[in-house]
Amino acid sequence: MSKLTLMAIFAHPDDEAFGTGGSLSKYAAEGADVYLVTATRGEAGQISEPDLATAADLPLVRERELRCACQVYGIHPPIFLDYVDGQLPNVHQGQAVGKLVLLIRQFRPQVVISFGPDGIYGHYDHIAASRWATIAVDLAGQPDCFPHHLDDDCRPHQVDKLYYRVLPQEQVEGMSNRGEPPAVMMDGVPFYFNGHPIESITTIIRVDDYLEQKIRGISCHATQVGRRSDLDLAQKIDLARQDALSTTECFTLVRSSVGWPEEKENDLFAGLR
Ligand SMILES: [Zn+2]
Repeated sequence: MSKLTLMAIFAHPDDEAFGTGGSLSKYAAEGADVYLVTATRGEAGQISEPDLATAADLPLVRERELRCACQVYGIHPPIFLDYVDGQLPNVHQGQAVGKLVLLIRQFRPQVVISFGPDGIYGHYDHIAASRWATIAVDLAGQPDCFPHHLDDDCRPHQVDKLYYRVLPQEQVEGMSNRGEPPAVMMDGVPFYFNGHPIESITTIIRVDDYLEQKIRGISCHATQVGRRSDLDLAQKIDLARQDALSTTECFTLVRSSVGWPEEKENDLFAGLR
């Protein structure tokens, strides 16, 4: 068996942090090769505190923030697809898939994780990243797809498992604020979180032992989450320990060459060890 390798494919710096930062840290700590592919540098987002960046240097600052987070998780430095934030549905879709096929053939992950088609809250960049990742996983093993990639160092590669990162319905309901459905506000417009019934979730990773990395990884994204906090790290970890949104990371298996779980899995590499 070759070394366990996990590849996460997302759209923006910080997409990895809240829902998968614990899992990325856990598998890296267990010795897996963990890669994070991010399509943009997040330059269309708002700046949490004005002295952290300007609009002009935001791509550079957010790249640094993601590098910081990857270091904290103990994974490889991030790989950027170099697309413009907010524009993923408008780029050449086939070329974007081709970039991912090349990366999958190069790094040869057994497991790939990405957004599902709901994009967590319908963000069109997330939806595009999900589609690209899914198509790339399906194509990377086929030698007649992107044949110009292929040489002695770049052979077809069949990913064994593809997972979508999802939010359980129960957790989404738990986020409700004063009866309002929980949402991400974009320019004053609420984009509601999509919750999934627990029956549709195949895989729950407990990350209690990796809360420090997860919280420090989130903190790296200062231009998104801000720096100021009344709590120190230990207090944040204590608080996170009581919150299922922090301690569990949920996935739905959508492609598998090693069968389908009859009960909830607790390991993305189940069936591959
Ligand atoms: Zn995002």
